[in-house]
Amino acid sequence: MNAEIIAVGSELLTPFRQDTNSLYLTGKLNDLGVEVIFKTIVGDVQENLTAAARLALARADLVLFSGGLGPTEDDLTREAVAEVLELDLQRDPEIVARIATMFASRRIKMTDNNMRQADVIVGATILPNPLGTAPGQWLSPSFEGRDKIVILLPGPPHELHRMFDEQCLERLRAAVPPLHIATRLRKVAMIGESLLDSRIAPIYKRYPEVQTTILAAAGEIQIHLRARASSQDEAEDRVERLVGEIEDELDDAIFSRGEETLEQIAGYYLQMREATVAVAESCTGGLLGQRISSISGSSRYFRGGAIVYSNDLKTTFTGIHPKLIEEHGAVSREVATALAQGIRQRCDATFGIGITGVAGPSGGTEQKPVGTVYVALADRDSTQVIEKIYPGDRNRIRWFATQQALDMLRRKLL
Ligand code: ATP
Ligand code: MG
Repeated sequence: MNAEIIAVGSELLTPFRQDTNSLYLTGKLNDLGVEVIFKTIVGDVQENLTAAARLALARADLVLFSGGLGPTEDDLTREAVAEVLELDLQRDPEIVARIATMFASRRIKMTDNNMRQADVIVGATILPNPLGTAPGQWLSPSFEGRDKIVILLPGPPHELHRMFDEQCLERLRAAVPPLHIATRLRKVAMIGESLLDSRIAPIYKRYPEVQTTILAAAGEIQIHLRARASSQDEAEDRVERLVGEIEDELDDAIFSRGEETLEQIAGYYLQMREATVAVAESCTGGLLGQRISSISGSSRYFRGGAIVYSNDLKTTFTGIHPKLIEEHGAVSREVATALAQGIRQRCDATFGIGITGVAGPSGGTEQKPVGTVYVALADRDSTQVIEKIYPGDRNRIRWFATQQALDMLRRKLL
């Protein structure tokens, strides 16, 4: 079974309000095994609303409306759906009485337009609204010779959530063929999206029955896998075979099999190895220390460090010789190395990390353009340095640098 969600409301077509109801509904529908194939946002204009409703009914089995059930002139969902289904609206005396009681109990004078909320499409099941005045409606009409399910839900998110959970989920479960879903998540650090896809596309293309979604963020890619089958075992089996092949291909580029962040994983490994780390940060200005220390329990492995933004503090806190900076420049392989080694020693840590770079937007040169970052990782015996030119604005470049540092540390500890 597939679905379309129609979010009704002119405010949703402005920059000031976002349609979040459809996200909520999509999550719930997916869990039932229902795929959302279209989402529509339409303003409070009856003509546009009927056009959207007609299109949705023609292409989806299940059509959910959110919003436009209130008392005001611009709440037109009931009228539009009735028009498209060629059904009448009938004022329901019980709803009229209920709305009147609600107003009376709050000692507010009820305006006549409130009665519009009691208009029910003939044949609809009324979905009471414990949190508001406008009830929802559930219909099982035939449209162009096919059986459909149509659900009208109120716009205010808390009303919609409760009505859907309490009055629609079970009804839908009964109407939808039982489907079981198995999901897997793998997170990968510091590989570009196109490179990653070129490596795993040949694999996941052989599993068309598993839905593969690749979500890229700065310095991190999430691979979401989702399989459906008529039994849980079968769904697990399908997704497990694909995930196994992807793991073989990406190997230790995968840093997490769940929701963990890179700083969590690095911290976890440090703790396992009873190792500690210290940081000397120039262009990241403390962001790496912030990320490491954001993990509860990090005092066991995070020694601390220094923000060595100015050259003289690089010397004061990590013991770099001023000549080294003069000779190679503050943004250099040599200085990153010295920062990592110096902070490791001075903080008496197992590992030292040094970061220096040009976060921009100013300060770039031809040799060292904006985005140039050196990240060094030192232990007692050796130091590894990675030079990269990261894309994006200042915040993104700084974030990339910390991703790089955490990933180097993670790999070192593997
Ligand atoms: P009401 O009885 O409150 O008028 P309604 O069913 O007519 O309910 P709307 O008038 O469309 O609903 O919206 C009421 C409130 O809910 C508004 O603040 C609106 O911004 C919010 N809302 C409506 N649709 C959505 C949506 N799809 N996602 C998030 N918020 C929404
Ligand atoms: Mg309204």
